Amino acid sequence: MKISKRAIRRHHYERLKKKRQNYWRGILSAERVGFVVNTPHPCSCYLCGNPRKHFGELTIQEIRQNKKEASQCAGCLPLRKVGDYQDVTQ
Ligand SMILES: [Zn+2]
Repeated sequence: MKISKRAIRRHHYERLKKKRQNYWRGILSAERVGFVVNTPHPCSCYLCGNPRKHFGELTIQEIRQNKKEASQCAGCLPLRKVGDYQDVTQ
């Protein structure tokens, strides 16, 4: 029997709704719990947000990727800088 994509999507929606009902100190109404399913962390202040946006620095994931590439093939690929990544903040 084939499980429809809609059923899977609804299953995960309900699963996350149950899991995240205590987010934000558990003060969420039923409508806000639905919002939290799709937006678990709505803040993008300078503490939470992307460091490229706020400080012009690489993200931790990009730094790790640079180190990984440098260790695999030293000298054949130049390390990426801030401007090499597509700016998705706009
Ligand atoms: Zn924040």
